[in-house]
Amino acid sequence: MNNVFDPLVWELVPFHFWSVVFFVFGAIVGSFLNVCVYRMPRDLSVIRPHSRCPHCEGRIAWRHNIPMISWLVLRGKCADCRHPISFRYPVVELATALGFLACWLSFGPQAGLALSYCILLSLLLAATLIDVEHFIIPDEITVGGIFLGVAGSALVPALHGAESGTASALASLGGLLGGAGVVYLIVRVGKLLFGRLREELGENVTVVFGEEALHLPGGREIPYGDMLYRKTDTIIVPARKVEMIDRCYPNAEVRLSQERLLIGSESFDPESVSYLEAVTDRIVIPREAMGLGDVKFMGAIGAFLGWQATLFSLMLSSFIGALLGVGLILSGRQEWSSRLPYGPYIAAAAVAWIFMPAEFRAGWNRNLDELWRMIVPGEWG
Ligand SMILES: [Zn+2]
Repeated sequence: MNNVFDPLVWELVPFHFWSVVFFVFGAIVGSFLNVCVYRMPRDLSVIRPHSRCPHCEGRIAWRHNIPMISWLVLRGKCADCRHPISFRYPVVELATALGFLACWLSFGPQAGLALSYCILLSLLLAATLIDVEHFIIPDEITVGGIFLGVAGSALVPALHGAESGTASALASLGGLLGGAGVVYLIVRVGKLLFGRLREELGENVTVVFGEEALHLPGGREIPYGDMLYRKTDTIIVPARKVEMIDRCYPNAEVRLSQERLLIGSESFDPESVSYLEAVTDRIVIPREAMGLGDVKFMGAIGAFLGWQATLFSLMLSSFIGALLGVGLILSGRQEWSSRLPYGPYIAAAAVAWIFMPAEFRAGWNRNLDELWRMIVPGEWG
């Protein structure tokens, strides 16, 4: 079964022949990731239609679609309409190519291991780019990653330092449950502690929903963009009286999310309502550190790297997150209500784990296993 990945097979040609192959293959995968990053959060198919220029909608010929090279030859402009093409495209292609090369240089000639890490690296990069822009990580990446991680582990026991495919698949499932479980716990506890920010405003205060922001008494203004990151984020105002331009509702709850404005049981398109006044004594604003997307994302990482790696990833990512958060607040670029997506920190920490020296990873695993035995004594340990 594992003959394809047998290092002896891969050693039949010079090592750096494969280095070139990994680099080129990485550039092609990077080109595909660009498509995924654009289309997945917009619920478009990543297979069809063929790549088009977003400006003139012209079909991009294959010779204008060669990773990195085409962008350079065309000097970053569409071949048809000369509209500029973002430099992010060649950068993502180059980053993926370098990532694949790094996997081969670090783990070759163990090709199965190198390829598995290439797949994980691709998932991490796509998730990061989408999370930064849209504050979500699509299921195609997280749930797809879980399946790839478990299947890959069964094929490549070296992923979990296991002797057999079965033992490796079991370790992968342990990683999936451990990683997803810990983050799920954090999300639940986080929701209890500070998931929703409930603010008492005093009696019969008027809150105004403007076009771009929520206006609170005392001239306070919070842009919707700072509160409604995800589709499920909702601002709730239990109102004594709601007034729109042509309508008035007594004792109705106002619920505003990205896609819907509910007043009592009546539903509106938020775009169609530019002004609304609510008399209330409190508001509830969503505020979450991590979401269910992060739970599934950590599950996928655990499926590839094992449960010990998810704990490392969690610790390092919260450290990076705290450091960056404090830095941004100190530099005055971040308000209390705005926040950064958490997925990229998890991804960065997972990359650090992959390229950490083998002795460090082994030591970390040994210590955690010992700790585990102290907590769970006897046969279960
Ligand atoms: Zn064009």
